[in-house]
Amino acid sequence: MPDTGHKSLSILPDDGLDLTRSIRKLSIPTAPANDLDDAVAGTALLVCRDSDSKKWGPRWLSRHGLNATILPDADDPLAAARSKRPDVIIVDSALRAAGGEPVYQSLLDAADLDAPVVVMCATARELPTVLRAKPFDVIRKPFEWELIARRAEYAARLSVLQRRFAESRESLRKAVDIADAARERLRSRESFEPVTGLPNRKKFVDLLKRGMAAVDRDRNQLAVIVIGFSRFRLVIEAMGQERADLMLTQVGNMLADIVSDAGAAPATPTGMRTAAVASIDQSRFAVMITASRESDPVDSMLQRLLSELARPIQADGQTVSLSACLGVAIYPHDADDADSLLQRADNAMRDAQSRGGGFKYYCAETDAAAARKLMLENMLHEAVDRNELTLAYQPITDVGLGRVIAAEALLRWKQPDGTLISPGEFVPVAEESGLMIRIGEFVLDEACKQMLAWHEAGILLPTICVNVSKVQLMSGDFVATVKRIINKHQIDPASVELEISERGVLSGNHEVISQLHDLKGFGVRLSVDDFGTGDSAIAYLKELPIDVLKIDRSYVAGLASNEKDSALVSAMIALGQRLGLAVVAEGVETPDQLAALRNLECDAFQGFLISEPVPGHAFSSLLSTPPNSTD
Ligand code: C2E
Ligand code: CA
Ligand code: CA
Repeated sequence: MPDTGHKSLSILPDDGLDLTRSIRKLSIPTAPANDLDDAVAGTALLVCRDSDSKKWGPRWLSRHGLNATILPDADDPLAAARSKRPDVIIVDSALRAAGGEPVYQSLLDAADLDAPVVVMCATARELPTVLRAKPFDVIRKPFEWELIARRAEYAARLSVLQRRFAESRESLRKAVDIADAARERLRSRESFEPVTGLPNRKKFVDLLKRGMAAVDRDRNQLAVIVIGFSRFRLVIEAMGQERADLMLTQVGNMLADIVSDAGAAPATPTGMRTAAVASIDQSRFAVMITASRESDPVDSMLQRLLSELARPIQADGQTVSLSACLGVAIYPHDADDADSLLQRADNAMRDAQSRGGGFKYYCAETDAAAARKLMLENMLHEAVDRNELTLAYQPITDVGLGRVIAAEALLRWKQPDGTLISPGEFVPVAEESGLMIRIGEFVLDEACKQMLAWHEAGILLPTICVNVSKVQLMSGDFVATVKRIINKHQIDPASVELEISERGVLSGNHEVISQLHDLKGFGVRLSVDDFGTGDSAIAYLKELPIDVLKIDRSYVAGLASNEKDSALVSAMIALGQRLGLAVVAEGVETPDQLAALRNLECDAFQGFLISEPVPGHAFSSLLSTPPNSTD
């Protein structure tokens, strides 16, 4: 480009990051090659006095695509150029401005005007002065308007292009700003939880690391408190995600207030030094406090958190009460790295959660038990898929006649390596993880199949007893499931006895009681299992449509040796029988226990004395055992 005397077109960035550069590189527009051939070249301001120029100038200029304005004689050319913003200015060198200097000079000197100036130079004498002023172009007399118009057109097009470049540079700059802002947001999302705006887990771990380093230096201690809520899923379902977010934001603000209150007074009588709060995921918060070892600000912080969090929260017109669960882990006592410390506080929180609320300090033993539970839960999922669960059957024998009158189906889990895991351990895990519904269906289905197989083999056992978990009873469609399975196998509902633990059934829950009536109406038998272990009111017994009472084996164990146990078993038998129920004693291991039961006129018994639970195919051999061989 020739030196036009205009500011050079710098479109390359002189600073910025790689991203900025690449955006600029990608989107810098190149001047379209055919732009100069477009019909409209732009606008021109014609500053001249002679009538010839006024007459011919506009005509020729318009032929070259330029829309020309002639400056009226009295007008100020600078003011006109500023208001009209022409793409080119054509000016007669002979014209003088108010101060006496040439008009072209004042136009070129005006820093705010960037239109190219084409000077029509009347005399050869003037030429050097005009050239020194560096106009875009100079045209000598005689004025050929066709030539002037061509060169003005060229100047105008160039000026239009320059402007477009400037504009695209501006929009590029904006694009770069947007990209920068986006990157900033991204960076903040890496460190902050979007709903509450508090530091996220990653950022919190960084804060912890710093806190731990300070603790090492100052010989303090640091506590991490993880805050969760019980039944949080239910709360979200009930109030909707948006309101729940609103509520979490409020909780976050409240925690931030508590923590900043606490941290504001360094080395207070409570010994608190620094504090931080974070959202470690969508439903859990964490608080870090450091304190001197002599003081114990953690307990007071826990109390404060619990009492503040117990207040009902208003979220968009709805009032919610949350039940907070707090877990605490202390550095350096409980862990020596930030991730484990947070994890352990989290485990303690889960422990508090499983107890329905309050706070729990981290405890290695609880943690090991929780870890085993978690491992069992994972393995149990696979066990169900891989059919590792089977049933064993334990006979229930008539005390008087010594006949096997029923079999209780009991779950067995044999892992691929041969390890047996007792249902006492894995049933609670299945209940907590939601797997129990599926497992319970499997048990009933399998037990019904076994009944049919025995019948086909000529073993006419009157009753099969199947244990039912309280989780199944709470599931809503338990009754329908039972009916479906029993109907599928076409067995008599009266030959199926569902055992429900006292702890699950004597709660007086109306839903449960009405389901039991439904089941009874369908024809199945019902028994109360583990009788004597619950702390529920015996009065409920008479409201339940039950057939059998099973006395827990902890009472049977002391039957022959402990007078109190004998008295209790005797009372339970009397109670059951007065209510018209059959009474079964569980866990009978010795002939003495059986003899005692016979004295008390118990109806039936079950226990290792007759047999341990055995696989279905081995059950027939028990039936051929002579009835009174145990006496
Ligand atoms: P439970 O329903 O009280 O079952 C009786 C338990 O006592 C069985 O333990 C059985 O093996 C054991 N047992 C029987 N006779 C004796 C004896 O003479 N002495 C001693 N010490 N124990 C005896 P198991 O099979 O380990 O089952 C434990 C618990 O797991 C069961 O207690 C029941 O609550 C639960 N469970 C087992 N299978 C199922 C099932 O299919 N569904 C549900 N919901 N729970 C089940
Ligand atoms: Ca049972
Ligand atoms: Ca039992």
